[in-house]
Amino acid sequence: MLMGGPMCESCGRPRPGATEGRFCDRCADARGTLLPWDEVHRRLVEEEFMARNGMGRAQADAAAREALGRMPAWKGRR
Ligand SMILES: [Zn+2]
Repeated sequence: MLMGGPMCESCGRPRPGATEGRFCDRCADARGTLLPWDEVHRRLVEEEFMARNGMGRAQADAAAREALGRMPAWKGRR
């Protein structure tokens, strides 16, 4: 995992230069409130694993659940 610098506690994305809040702009609304798990999961599946990594939906879905289950914001949730 990334060393140094703040990271999103929901998805683990680095947040270089971030000084407030615990979540990135993809995981929280404009006020910094964490979005529902379903929404965070869907974005991770579609915008990260499918769009960037080229996974199929089933594989991306499983990978996103696995990834979120390790994050402080979602620990134990899948
Ligand atoms: Zn995030």
